[in-house]
Amino acid sequence: MQFNQLEEIAAAVQTCTLCPLHTGRVKGVPGEGPTDAEIMFIGEGPGYHENRQGRPFVGPSGQFLDELLAMAGLHRREVFIGNVVKCRPPDNRDPLPDEIEMCTSTYLMRQIELINPKVIVTLGRFSMNLFIPGAKITQIHGQPRRINGRLIVPMMHPAAALHQPRNRELITEDFRRLPDILARADTIDPIDPIDPIDPAPRSNSTRSAATPPPELPPEQMRMF
Ligand code: SF4
Repeated sequence: MQFNQLEEIAAAVQTCTLCPLHTGRVKGVPGEGPTDAEIMFIGEGPGYHENRQGRPFVGPSGQFLDELLAMAGLHRREVFIGNVVKCRPPDNRDPLPDEIEMCTSTYLMRQIELINPKVIVTLGRFSMNLFIPGAKITQIHGQPRRINGRLIVPMMHPAAALHQPRNRELITEDFRRLPDILARADTIDPIDPIDPIDPAPRSNSTRSAATPPPELPPEQMRMF
């Protein structure tokens, strides 16, 4: 049943015309991974290679993501990898708010409900802002927080870190800490929605302990 519904979503993406991004679609990229994955990674949207292959993170940033997953002791076959929007934005521009709203409310949020992962790792600011609106990735990357029973771990997008030595160092450090976060995921107080895990001290962290966690608006809380 769950498998069928995820297959229906994957099929619907290929013919979807609900937002303007369908005009640049060669192949829609619904996402892939085990239907009962405990960890879900959510990126931004398909790029050139993903649009041609219909699979998430298959270009250079995908190779980097594979390296990062290996650092965390994970393989992509163990996790579900998806995107905020399922069709490639033209010239790799940012997805627009209306496009994000349409695609996530129609597809991504249903995928999350069906897969029901314990942990969602957001890759980049667009997926992070689905769960933590208004937050800045440079301030909260690598800081997990429990939102409505699910652990959300914001990370930088691999594409943004690939050629930026400083960001590459930060995302690498965050992925190396991921096993510890996952090991502790079940022990986090479920009623504390704010920064429930205090990361190990990082000598060159950009994190500010005083950074106020943003509140989730009511409509976001209803997504889960
Ligand atoms: S991006 Fe999403 S909502 Fe827009 S056409 Fe593609 S599948 Fe449909």
